[in-house]
Amino acid sequence: MAARTLRIGLIPGDGIGKEVIPAGRRILEALPASLGLKFEFINLRAGFETFEQTGAALPDETVAILKSDCDGALFGAVSSPSTAVKGYSSPIVALRKKLDLYANVRPVKSVGGAANPIDMVIVRENTEDLYVKEERTYDTPEGKVAEAIKRISQRASSRIATMAGEIALRRQKIRAAGAPSIHKGPLVTITHKSNVLSQTDGLFRSTARDALAASRFSSVAVEEQIVDSMVYKLFRQPEAYDVIVAPNLYGDILSDGAAALVGSLGLVPSANVGEGFAIGEPCHGSAPDIMGQDIANPIATLRSAALMLEFLNEEEAAALIYAAVDANLEEGKLLSPDLGGKAKTSEVIEDILRRL
Ligand code: ATP
Ligand code: MG
Repeated sequence: MAARTLRIGLIPGDGIGKEVIPAGRRILEALPASLGLKFEFINLRAGFETFEQTGAALPDETVAILKSDCDGALFGAVSSPSTAVKGYSSPIVALRKKLDLYANVRPVKSVGGAANPIDMVIVRENTEDLYVKEERTYDTPEGKVAEAIKRISQRASSRIATMAGEIALRRQKIRAAGAPSIHKGPLVTITHKSNVLSQTDGLFRSTARDALAASRFSSVAVEEQIVDSMVYKLFRQPEAYDVIVAPNLYGDILSDGAAALVGSLGLVPSANVGEGFAIGEPCHGSAPDIMGQDIANPIATLRSAALMLEFLNEEEAAALIYAAVDANLEEGKLLSPDLGGKAKTSEVIEDILRRL
């Protein structure tokens, strides 16, 4: 196999981002040479500390290097000051816009033997819906009224549903290769509220259905569910879901809810994905309460590195990382404090690297 070199931007950011991103780098470096994969790492700056030092939370240089020199990136976390600071806004939100990372992908998986096993991926549209932030407030004789635009387009709905279909197929391929699974076949659940919002959510629903009717998805079962009843079923019967595709706001809420089901933010990865580019990002924040103590759980970042590799078409490498993490969790001897263990970040990393 010809060697492939992937250039990966590393953006630790603030707080525990600085402790977990090096773990992401180490697991990539530890992948077996037989995969024919090489990595070059480029250290990049963003976050609140960068803002304090340079006046920009997301320096132009960081964006330029990601665009021109990187195949993918790992992003740690950035702290958000509790009161608004003039000129500061979230660099990851800006990055999603500047690189057109239109999908936020969040796999949620329980540790083996859970009473209600969970193994799902939430695919959230990332560019429109209520997040276009077109709000206005006006006065009426009865008092103020505020309103916001909810924008849903065929283009964005179609590409996000297509991505969900592709993820469902990829998961099926991994299962067919022998990975244990609670699912029998690929399934995509479209979520919406078109019983009330017949035009906006109606368009999302019909466009997603059309996209998933493409012949390459003929093996994928497609169902749909109203978002409120999905929340109910998600908490009672999470094993019923394989891939969920949702407009921006519902996706945001569902993915945090689903993350709560598996016990710790420290376990849940995500990826921000666009055409040919992916940024892996742990779901947790900068966690200032535990920084500098070597107790942050690195698993969300390790899984985010694997997820990034999946979107760079390196599924085999990704599968090795997932398996090493799962083996650590299933044995349960070297767990970080958020999972009830006593292990340091460094000990968890060493254990997982050994299994790789
Ligand atoms: P931010 O403002 O950056 O979002 P936060 O204070 O909201 O920071 P989060 O990172 O969102 O912090 O975390 C919420 C809680 O979960 C914190 O108590 C934190 O200690 C815990 N937590 C988050 N990530 C991890 C992790 N990787 N390992 C262990 N505990 C974590
Ligand atoms: Mg937070």
